[in-house]
Amino acid sequence: MAGTLYLVATPIGNLRDITFRAVEVLKAVDVIACEDTRHTRKLLNALEIDNKLVSYHDHNESERAVELTQMLAAGKSVAVVCDAGTPGINDPGFRLVQAAREAGATVVPIPGAVAFVNAAVASGLPTDALFFGGFLPAKTGERRRRLEELRDIPATLIFYEAPHRLIASLRDCLEVLGDRNASIARELTKLHEEIVTARLSKLIEQFENDTVRGEIVLTIDRMSEVDVAADTSDPSVVSRYRELIAAGAERKAAMKAVAKEFGLPRDKVYRLVQNIN
Ligand code: SAM
Repeated sequence: MAGTLYLVATPIGNLRDITFRAVEVLKAVDVIACEDTRHTRKLLNALEIDNKLVSYHDHNESERAVELTQMLAAGKSVAVVCDAGTPGINDPGFRLVQAAREAGATVVPIPGAVAFVNAAVASGLPTDALFFGGFLPAKTGERRRRLEELRDIPATLIFYEAPHRLIASLRDCLEVLGDRNASIARELTKLHEEIVTARLSKLIEQFENDTVRGEIVLTIDRMSEVDVAADTSDPSVVSRYRELIAAGAERKAAMKAVAKEFGLPRDKVYRLVQNIN
């Protein structure tokens, strides 16, 4: 009989956010695979658990998955934890789950903290449909392209973000997505927890002179009904733009005039007419 792989969520800050079941499993398994053995040892010490740890991180994930799968195939039980939150969510786990399933092991999730879900539910933005996009690309060109791809998704968008990139990302979001409602959740469950929801432009004003620190989740509303309506008014925007160009206006001036006439942000008009010569 193949063994069991447990995916154990651990706290994202506040140690009391561990579940009874997580503690039981971490005590009982044959081995705990973790990202950073020193980090997890501290958690285990706080929980008075003395169990065997092996490292399982981005750089040894493939080889370690083979070894751990062999243990599972031999009937052992393995728990996977990451430094914080739920394994497999922007953290190692996926490869091992795949290999464990192929080896016939049972895979059991032990639910608990996950940063993006808590940021979304506390943001005040709609939670009927959520799109979790992990980390946005670090470079502005790639980041804007990614945001373009996600612009029309009818769901609240959620991203993890590094503090030193927050302002640059917010500016790109404003440029590509328009001035949507958004929320910054910082240091969830920790001493300096802060959740601020406002228009992207206001968030930029508020945070640009701050030295932003800590762990951050950025949640952004979907395109508003007004913007959707504006997008579907393409033919009139486009034909007005053509008219102005035909009358001899420069491209930039024509876009500006159309934006003003239709009450649309300039970047939106740019998107609608960018392929028209
Ligand atoms: N596995 C984790 C989870 O379940 O949420 C995510 C790990 S990912 C490598 C780390 C990122 O998650 C951080 O850079 C931050 O964006 C987000 N994060 C983790 N803990 C957080 C917290 N306490 N408050 C806000 N964001 C957090």
